[in-house]
Amino acid sequence: MTHTIGFIGLGTMGLPMAAHLLNRGHQLKLYARRQEVFTLQAKHLIDRGAIPCLSLTEVASNADVIITNVLGTEDVRQILITGPEAIQCHAKKDALIIDHSTIDPSATKEIASQLGSQGVAFVDAPVSGGVWAAEAGTLLSMIGGTEEACERASNVISAYTKTITRVGEAGHGQIAKLCNQIAQVINIQGVAESLTFAHALGADPARVFEAIESGMGGSPMMSLMAPKMINRDFKAGIAARLHAKDVNIAHTAARSLETPLPCLNVMSKQYQRLIDEGLGEQDSSILFKMLKRLDAE
Ligand code: NAD
Repeated sequence: MTHTIGFIGLGTMGLPMAAHLLNRGHQLKLYARRQEVFTLQAKHLIDRGAIPCLSLTEVASNADVIITNVLGTEDVRQILITGPEAIQCHAKKDALIIDHSTIDPSATKEIASQLGSQGVAFVDAPVSGGVWAAEAGTLLSMIGGTEEACERASNVISAYTKTITRVGEAGHGQIAKLCNQIAQVINIQGVAESLTFAHALGADPARVFEAIESGMGGSPMMSLMAPKMINRDFKAGIAARLHAKDVNIAHTAARSLETPLPCLNVMSKQYQRLIDEGLGEQDSSILFKMLKRLDAE
């Protein structure tokens, strides 16, 4: 079944996702804040029939499904609920909104409840896998919402998502995504410390990586990050600013619930230092370089 889909957020992840929706035959309406996006980054989508919209009112009108893939909690809240053109005022009564951004779970619950009171269904569907998986159509998504809304959402996002797991009600997709991020960044830090230790004790980090990659300490994250650290190739990849944002959301939530997570505390400080030093656009493997700076203090 094909739909009219309003798509908001034409960044690194949004562009390949939108292309997959066109491949499935959906009619696509694209929103961007700047006109030039339609003649540059999103030109290939417009050439294939996607409709450019410069207002949220326009992108939401007549859309059965509206997808957001923007940056942080306040962006999603403003687009959907509080902004001057908030989608809640323009969405069709039986529309479904799917949010792929990684944002705060409790704000997500509030957004879902506000939209629900207007008769609009909402599913939080953060994704994992990075731009490579978005392009290949093999993302993983952890989703939250009513069973009916999640089933509707799954039919749409299967265009670019290989594995979809309904975790629970609205907000539970975001909880699972933050769990994924906690495990992920602590894993990256573990790889950085392991290679730093190898070097300090006089072993070749590349040979150590080769020796341990398929052992119990190995992981997809080690396989991805260790070569970048060994080759000092810190070009993103996974931009550190995005991990910093997610660590901040998780750290704030854990603190407000008085749940002690010592490694997350350390990661929160490491990412804050990294952002303060203007390294947010680098790959998250730059955590390796931050260890050297700690050493210099
Ligand atoms: P990006 O910065 O490349 O793109 C974000 C897009 O959203 C931009 O086009 C920006 O103009 C638009 N945008 C931001 N705020 C907006 C607003 N208030 N109104 C309208 N448009 C707005 O980011 P990305 O890498 O595509 O990531 C998008 C989301 O997906 C983030 O929440 C990120 O944490 C998450 N994510 C990213 C990756 C990744 O590898 N890049 C992987 C998984 C999840």
